[in-house]
This record gives sequence, C-alpha cells and structure tokens, in this order.
Amino acid sequence: MNPDAARLDLEAWRASFPDDPYRADRFLPALVHRSLDQARARSLDQAASAFARQVIAEVAPLAERTEHRLHLPELARHDRFGRVTEEVRFDPDYHGSGHVVWESGIVAHSGVPGRAFEQGTLLYLLSLEGETGHACPATCTIGLARALRRRAEPEVRDRFLPPLLELDYGRAERASQFLTEIQGGSDVGANAAVAEPAGDGTYRVTGEKWFCSVADAQQFLLTARVPGAPDGTKGLGCFVMPRFLDGAPNGFRIRRLKEKLGTRGLASAEIDLDGAVAWPIGPVEDGFKTAVGVVLNTSRWLTAVGGAGMMWRSYLEAAGFARHRRAFGRPIGDFPLVRRTLAGMKVQWLGALHAVWVLTGLEDAIDAGTAGDEEVALHRFLVNATKYEASWRATSVVRDAIEVLGGNGTIEEFSVLPRLYRDAMVYESWEGTHNVLVTQVLNDCRRLDLLSVLDGWLTGVLEAVSSPAGKEAAATALAALDDEIAGARRAVGDPGYGAAHFRTHLGRIMLVVEVASMLDSLEHDGPEELGPVADLLARLELESGYRPEADPAFTDRVDAALAGDLSG
Ligand SMILES: Cc1cc2nc3c(=O)[nH]c(=O)nc-3n(C[C@H](O)[C@H](O)[C@H](O)COP(=O)(O)OP(=O)(O)OC[C@H]3O[C@@H](n4cnc5c(N)ncnc54)[C@H](O)[C@@H]3O)c2cc1C
Repeated sequence: MNPDAARLDLEAWRASFPDDPYRADRFLPALVHRSLDQARARSLDQAASAFARQVIAEVAPLAERTEHRLHLPELARHDRFGRVTEEVRFDPDYHGSGHVVWESGIVAHSGVPGRAFEQGTLLYLLSLEGETGHACPATCTIGLARALRRRAEPEVRDRFLPPLLELDYGRAERASQFLTEIQGGSDVGANAAVAEPAGDGTYRVTGEKWFCSVADAQQFLLTARVPGAPDGTKGLGCFVMPRFLDGAPNGFRIRRLKEKLGTRGLASAEIDLDGAVAWPIGPVEDGFKTAVGVVLNTSRWLTAVGGAGMMWRSYLEAAGFARHRRAFGRPIGDFPLVRRTLAGMKVQWLGALHAVWVLTGLEDAIDAGTAGDEEVALHRFLVNATKYEASWRATSVVRDAIEVLGGNGTIEEFSVLPRLYRDAMVYESWEGTHNVLVTQVLNDCRRLDLLSVLDGWLTGVLEAVSSPAGKEAAATALAALDDEIAGARRAVGDPGYGAAHFRTHLGRIMLVVEVASMLDSLEHDGPEELGPVADLLARLELESGYRPEADPAFTDRVDAALAGDLSG
C-alpha cells in the first residue's frame, strides 16, 4: 500500500463525519420524541438539527483557532490613554462562535421555566467540539438567570435578568460565578471575602477570588461572608455584581489570567474585589442555598451533559477511524481488540447519555415547578452522582478514542481529541471534585434516606422491562442493585471509613442507573440496539464473576453492541 492510498483512507474517514450529527444519530432524536409533546419535540428537532450543522461547519473551525496557544485571551488592563478597563481581549473568532452558540437559544430559553430539554440538547451538541470557550459561559449565564428568576427580589430580577436573556450575542450580557478562593474550592464555607451592607439594599464586597472563569462577563455572581452571620456556608450571601458601574470597572481588578490545561479559549482569572457594589439574590441568609441549590446544580447538570457529549464525539471519531484506517492489510475495525475497545466506549457513552437525560427531565420539571417530592429527592441524588460519573468517564472514553487513532490521536491538528482530553480533565474538577460530590451524596443519603427513593425508582424501572432484548440486562442490574444498595447503606452507617467505600458503591449504582435508563428507553420505542448495549454494560461492569474470555458468546455480544457501526 502506498502513502497516497493511506492519505485517501484518512480523507475518507474525515469526509464520513456527518454534516448533521443530530439527524445521523439514532439515540438523541428518540429521547427528544419520547420526552416531549409533539409540538415541542418538533420544534426542538428542527433547532437541534440546525445547531448540529452549525457546530460542525462553523463553530469547529473557529474553536480550533481560538483554542490554539497563539490565539488565547489576553488581559488588557488599561486603554490607550491609561484609563483602567480590566478588559479581556479575545481573537475575533471567539465572538464569531459566540454568535452561533447564543443565537441557538441555549441561554435565551432560560426566560421560560422548564426548558431544560432544549438547553441540555443544545449543550450536548455543542460539546461535540468540547468546551469551545462558550459552554462554560452559557452554563454560568443559565445558572444566574435561573437564580434571578427563581430567587431574586423583583427589582433585582428586573434590573439584571433581561440582558441575560438576549438572543443576540452582540447585545446579550454573559455571566460568571465566583465561589472559589485560594483557601478552598471544595470547602466553600472557608470563603473569606466579605460583603458589607451599604444601607441602601446593596453591599460592598471586598476580598479575592481564585478561580474566575468567564472573567470577561458583564455580570458576576459571587459568594461572600456577611458580617455577624455564622461561620461556614451558613454565613455566605449570594450576590450579583455588574462588571461596570457608571462606565468604570466596579471595584475589581484582574490579577492575572490563568494558563490552563484545558478549556483554554475561556478566560479564567484571579480577581481582587475592593468595595465592589453588589445586589443580594434573595434573602442573604439563604445565599448558600441559592448558590448550590440553583447555580451549582445547574452547572453540575450541564457539566454532566457536556461529558456525555464529549464521549459521543470520541466514539464517532474512533468508530469512523476504525472503518477507514488500515493496518496489516485490513481495516483496524476488523481486529477484535479494537472492536472490544470501541464497544466499551459505546456502552459508556450511551449509558452516560441516558442517565443525563433522566437528570435533564428532572431539571425540566423542577424548573417548571411541576416536580413532586420524589422527583426532587431523585434529582438531589442524581445531580451530584451523574456529574461525578459522567465527568470521570468522559476522560477515559476520550483516552480510548486517542488509543484507537494511535499516534495520530495525539496530534492537535489531526483531530479534536487532544482538545477534548484536556477539556474533560477540567470538567472532572470544576463544579465539584469527585470526592466532594461523592461525600455530598453520602451526606444527603444520611440525612434524607435518598437510597430508598433511588432503590424504589430503579427497581420499578427494571422490573417493568418486558422486551426479550432487555430482560437479561435487567436481571443482572437488579441483582447488582441489591448488593450495592446494601453496601451503600453500610457505608452510610459508618461515620469513619464509610466515605471511602461509598465511592465504589456509588459508581456501581450509577452503572445500574445507566442500564436502567437505557432499558427504559428501549421499552418506549428506543433504538433496538439499546438491548445489546445495556446487556454488555451490565455484564462487563455489574455481573459478579463475569469473565469475557470464558464467555463463548462474547464476540457476538460485542458485534451486537456495535450494531454495524464498523461496516460500510
Ligand atoms: C479551569 C478551571 C476553572 C474554574 N473556574 C471556576 C469559576 O469560574 N468559579 C469558581 O468558583 N471556581 C472555579 N474553579 C474552581 C473549581 O471549582 C475548584 O478547583 C474545585 O471546586 C476544587 O477546589 P480546589 O481546587 O480548591 O481543590 P481542593 O478543595 O483543594 O481539593 C483538593 C483535593 O482534595 C479532595 N478533597 C477535598 N475535600 C475532601 C473531602 N471532604 N473528602 C475527600 N476528599 C476531599 C478533592 O476531591 C481534591 O481531590 C475552576 C477550576 C478550574 C480547574
């Protein structure tokens, strides 16, 4: 085989990538149609297809440039006449892709309660390109918009909310959220920045913030300690602070922009605050509840969605490559080792997609105000557990895709994968590290017995599986569920080392959630291959003592899960 033939194969791989990944997909459209009424599904269907095309045709080349080390954001603290501006300057292409992202409606939907399906779908599609410098700003803006809509006094809401809902990127204001200080990101209760009441309903905030993404935002949401309030998280207020007051920076100074492993096109800074004027979002004593219950939970949900989107892209890249790349005279997708890796990627991606979709449904209902007590409890468990599970799996699935592409997988200009890998690493830590999320779920289970709610829901879903294709997977998942819930209960009851064991149980419970949510979709006219996919996930991860090498049907199971993705 000559070099030109190899080049043609690689070109064929690139050309095989769908112009419209939404329409080329079998899974997401099925979920959209299953979850929404006809009119809403049709409208989302059209919007998703149009946005998917734009992500590939327009956002991708712009993001490739703006994430490059030569085109990263820069700090321009003064204007040409020496006036303080605290401006962050971007390559113009950054704003080019911002137009596409904002004008998809991903943020503007926040004006209507209960549009989580639309927002989750659009973010999943955007994540085909990773962070792109805009997924985080969109997420932060959705979070602040929700907090203002749900919690703020009318005059605060009316002042700050409308500019966040603008569809036009050129006119829209973007938001950021500053909680982390150098003495603690996980330990938000260690916040030392203070907010002094000014006597007119506003506060003056002074202190430093250590991780400030979207440092170019026009509105900052921040936490700060209120004088006389208790120590820890109970003493934190939650505020909105405009970037400018009377045309000048509002009492803040950007110390520097951070040079990061991933999400590089996004400006993340260290910021000093010195008497910045801020407005409380709702009662100050409820500040931490607003910051976590509305804002962080929104970010955790969308970070989980983003992780699933990066897994999707990784699978598409790798499966397409395996069809076209040849080694030893055959497409590499013929090799059982490659097929096994791809099948492992596919089950993890689809597991994550279906789990985040369940979470998205709960987000939709809670935001619309229609969720019952059980849904609220389920959400409380899943919002932390799904962010944990989806974000750590995303990195490993991107890594698998890089392995399938071989040396080419490590090359920046060859594919999007190196960028996804870096972004996925950041997704693992922001909005809550793994341990912190696991500990949060553990504490919630202790206080609220969420395990009973989860057990009831999962058992109901799994026992209702009737399709022959899903029955074995359901039986395996039910058996694992019993063991893991019992183990998790032991960990909950152990105030010493329980947390260390709980992480293992939680990981496996989330796998049951993934299997159950795929089977539930299969029951409701989801694509038939969800049966073999759920079966393979259940066997590999949940069946005690399962040894693929001793299973004569293993090859058939892998082939069934891949469902022809490697042919043609
Ligand atoms: C690129 C990037 C952008 C960011 N942007 C923002 C932003 O815009 N706004 C913002 O507020 N924050 C932001 N963050 C900060 C992020 O939220 C924090 O990094 C994160 O919450 C972890 O805090 P930390 O870095 O201080 O880690 P630490 O709290 O120091 O944790 C270090 C390690 O200790 C573990 N640990 C801590 N407590 C426990 C415990 N109780 N049990 C077991 N293990 C524990 C953690 O899991 C972690 O592995 C950003 C981070 C990154 C990487």
